[in-house]
Amino acid sequence: MGKHEIDKETIAQIGEELGIDGIGVTTAEPFHDVYEHLVMYRESGHESGFEHGVLEERVDPKTFFPEAKSIVAIAMAYRTEKYAGQKKPEGLRGQMSVYAWGMDYHKVLKQKLELLVARLEVEVGRPIVVHNSVDTGPLVDRAVAQRAGIGWVGKNCSLITEKHGSWVFLGQLVCDVDIEPNEPSLLPQCADCPDLCLKACPTKALVNPFQTDSSKCLSYITQMKGLIPEEYRAKLGRRLWGCDTCQVVCPKNKDVAFGTAIEFDPEPEFAFPDLMHLLELSNKQFRREFGESAAAWRGAKVMQRNAIIALGNMREKAALPKLLSMLQQDERPEIRGTIAWALRKIDAEGTCEAVAEAFERETEDEVKQEMAWAVKLREGGAEA
Ligand code: SF4
Ligand code: SF4
Repeated sequence: MGKHEIDKETIAQIGEELGIDGIGVTTAEPFHDVYEHLVMYRESGHESGFEHGVLEERVDPKTFFPEAKSIVAIAMAYRTEKYAGQKKPEGLRGQMSVYAWGMDYHKVLKQKLELLVARLEVEVGRPIVVHNSVDTGPLVDRAVAQRAGIGWVGKNCSLITEKHGSWVFLGQLVCDVDIEPNEPSLLPQCADCPDLCLKACPTKALVNPFQTDSSKCLSYITQMKGLIPEEYRAKLGRRLWGCDTCQVVCPKNKDVAFGTAIEFDPEPEFAFPDLMHLLELSNKQFRREFGESAAAWRGAKVMQRNAIIALGNMREKAALPKLLSMLQQDERPEIRGTIAWALRKIDAEGTCEAVAEAFERETEDEVKQEMAWAVKLREGGAEA
């Protein structure tokens, strides 16, 4: 076993036994090179607000876990074989990002990490101390995965693995066990790709290679609260949650292997939710139907707002009666404001009277602004 408590071959074997698609180890030494990047990211105003606030903790595991010796990074591929045969069901449908088509990955990866802890304890013959995380931990998961040899970070800022491309979830386990580290993955490997991801990004959120302005990324925009700024609404298209564009165009994602975790097999109603049905759901019903999905944590309101934008982008006249009745009755300002925008897109002439009347009753300034077009149209006789 040499000078380490566990060698890297043993870790690879444990990963295989536990059905983990990618596993690697790095030391608990600080990620000095990441610090500068994080400072620049914050100073440029590119954070989305979902990031962990303390930069020192994001780059040095010993600031929150002084006994840390190693970090085990894991990757689980989320496109299973059934992904390829997934068809959009009939009806007016929105689209979720592929990562939300199956069961919530937080639960699946957390379970894998727990099994991993149990196996490491057997290996070292003592209880071990760990700090494990999926998504919400302080460390930058892509930097950890790269240094643990799992994959490399592409110009689209995704962690790209050789076997499964970037269609992977990442998790990590900081522990007090001295495990033999893997060699870091080489950086970068975009080679002669003509920046396809940067060119395809609908909002130019990939401001430079390896640099995302998260506040412009549709993945963040679909999850934000309140009214979505108008400049992004048309760009959302039918997206209800997340955005896959910079992964779909990446040549490194072509012909990669499917994952084997059946928990990620697609649920058609998670993948392409029925938009009109979504609008009917109470918060409780939404949690019952979508609670197992990774897209449920923001609740019904955010998803319904996005569904209204999708209907507006589809110019869907069949949605008019439902939208007009919600405009009158819904108590949520961001829903009324978004409906006013969608009605203008679908049929400005036909709905301006109803929206102008709603304007007279409206008490919220930002919603009134969304409705002002109808008053102008009614008075001026031409679309503002
Ligand atoms: S997820 Fe979509 S919006 Fe975000 S950087 Fe990629 S292509 Fe752009
Ligand atoms: S699309 Fe091209 S430039 Fe972007 S991450 Fe993939 S290989 Fe790199």
